[in-house]
Amino acid sequence: MSNLNQNFIAGEWLAGSDQVANINPSDLSDTIGHYAQADSAQLQRALDAAQAAQREWGKAGIERRYNVLMAIGNELIARCDELGTLLAREEGKTQPEGKGEVYRSGQFFTYYAAESLRQIGDNADSVRPGIEVDVRREPVGTVAIISPWNFPVATAVWKIAPALAFGNAVIWKPANLVPASAVALAEIISRQDIPAGLFNLVMGSGSDVGQALVESPQINAISFTGSVPVGRGIAQAAVTNFTKIQLEMGSKNALAVMDDADLDTAIACALGGAFGSTGQKCTASSRLVVHKDIHDQFVERLVDGANNMVVGHALEAGTQIGPVVSDAQLQQNLANVELAKNEGGELLCGGERVDRATEGYFMNPAVFVNTRNDWQVNREELFAPIACVIKVDSYDEALATVNDTRFGLTAGIITSNLARATHFRRNARTGCVMVNLPTAGTDYHVPFGGRGESSYGPREQGQYAEEFYTTVKTAYIASGNPA
Ligand code: NAP
Ligand code: MG
Repeated sequence: MSNLNQNFIAGEWLAGSDQVANINPSDLSDTIGHYAQADSAQLQRALDAAQAAQREWGKAGIERRYNVLMAIGNELIARCDELGTLLAREEGKTQPEGKGEVYRSGQFFTYYAAESLRQIGDNADSVRPGIEVDVRREPVGTVAIISPWNFPVATAVWKIAPALAFGNAVIWKPANLVPASAVALAEIISRQDIPAGLFNLVMGSGSDVGQALVESPQINAISFTGSVPVGRGIAQAAVTNFTKIQLEMGSKNALAVMDDADLDTAIACALGGAFGSTGQKCTASSRLVVHKDIHDQFVERLVDGANNMVVGHALEAGTQIGPVVSDAQLQQNLANVELAKNEGGELLCGGERVDRATEGYFMNPAVFVNTRNDWQVNREELFAPIACVIKVDSYDEALATVNDTRFGLTAGIITSNLARATHFRRNARTGCVMVNLPTAGTDYHVPFGGRGESSYGPREQGQYAEEFYTTVKTAYIASGNPA
C-alpha cells in the first residue's frame, strides 16, 4: 500500500529524510500535503535497483511492455477528471487544462504501448560474401528524467513512456513545486507488472537530489525539461561521464499576424497562445509581431479579449486564467511588467496582482504595445501572462523579427496568403511552425523540439523518441553457407 507522499524506490514506498509543503496557489490556506525529500542513500538505492531491474525488463519481452504501458495509459484516461483536478489544485492551471493534460498523458502511454511492438531493425548483406548484417536498437540502460512544474504530468510522461517502451529503467525527479501529481502517477506505475526498481520516484530539490542524479556515472541517459541555465549545468555534468542527453528548455516564441490575417483567428490564437496556462508554457507566444496595416484593429480586439478573460481560482468553473504557480514567479512577473514599462512599452491592460475570494497568486493578463524586439522583455523568456506587441512594416520584417532570438522552439503565422504561409513555414528557424494556429498545442505522435537555446540533443515524442532511448547495435553473422 502506498503512502501518498513518499518516494518510490526499488519497489518500495519510502519516507524521506525531510519533507516539503505543497501549497495550492489558488488558495494559500489549502495545504495539499507534505512530501518526502530523498536523501543521497535513497538515491543510491534507486540507482542500484534500476540497473538490476533494467536487465530483467530488457529480457521481459515486448508484449509485457505493451500490456504495462497500455494499462497505465488507460488508467490515466479513466481518471483524468480526478487527477486533473489534483494537478490544477497544486499547479494552478485551470481544471479543464489539468484534465486535458492528464488525458493527453494517457494517450502518450497508449501510443508508446504500441511503439513497444513496433521495434523493427534493418538487415543487409555484408560486402563480404557469406556474411549477413543485422542492425537493431537496444535500450540505453538507466534514464534520469527531470521535469518542470508547468506541465508536471505531461512532460514527465512523454519521457517515461518511451523510456519504458524501449526497455529502459527510469529514475524520475519531478519539480519540487508539484509533488502530488508525481506521486499519483508513480502510484499507478507501482501497481504494474514491472520488476522492482524499474521505475523510481525520487523527490527533492534540483540543486540537491537533481544534481546528484545527473552526476551519477550509473545514469546512461538524461532527459531534462526546464530552464536554460539548469540545462547548461546538466550538459556540463553529463559530459564528464559521457552520458547521453536530451534537453528541452525555454523559448521566446513569436506569433506573426499579417495584414491579410483573418482577425478572429488571429485574436483567438494570440489570446490562447499568450495567456493559456497563465502564460507558463514553453510554447507560449509572448511576442506578437503585427503588420502595421492590421495593428490598430488587432490591438483593440486583443485588449478587449484580455480584459474579458476570467482570472480566478483554478478549480472554479469559468476560470480561464488560473493563478501564477508561486510567489517567486509572481514577483518576477510583476518585475517584468516594470521592466517593460521602463524600456518604453505602453501597458494597455493588466499586469497587476488581483484579489479574489481566496488568497492566491492571481495576476491579470498584460498587453504591451510599441515594444521593440531588442528590448530585454522581448529577449528573455517571461513565463508569464504578458504579451508584447511589436509593430512591423512588412512580411519580410515580420519574419526577420520572429527569427531574431537565441531560442527557437515554435513560431506561428496568421495569414490567408498561401505563398506567405509556405515561405514562413520553410524559413522560420524553429523546431515547430504553426500556420493559422496558436504557437502552443502539439500532438503526441510526431516529433517535438526546438533549435538554438530551446533544445539540445535528439527530438522527443513520436517515433523520433527512439533515437534517444535506444542505442544501435550492428551485428555481423557468418553463417558459413554463402548464398
Ligand atoms: P527549472 O528551474 O530549470 O527546473 C526544471 C527541473 O530541473 C526541476 O525538476 C528542478 O528541480 C530541476 N533542477 C533544478 N536545478 C537542478 C540541478 N542543478 N540539477 C538537476 N536538476 C535540477 O525549470 P522550471 O522553473 O521547473 O520550469 C520552467 C522552465 O521549463 C521554463 O524555462 C520553460 O520554458 C521550460 N519548459 C520547457 C519545455 C520544453 O519542452 N521546451 C516544456 C515545459 C517547460 P526543482 O523543482 O526542485 O528546482
Ligand atoms: Mg504547489
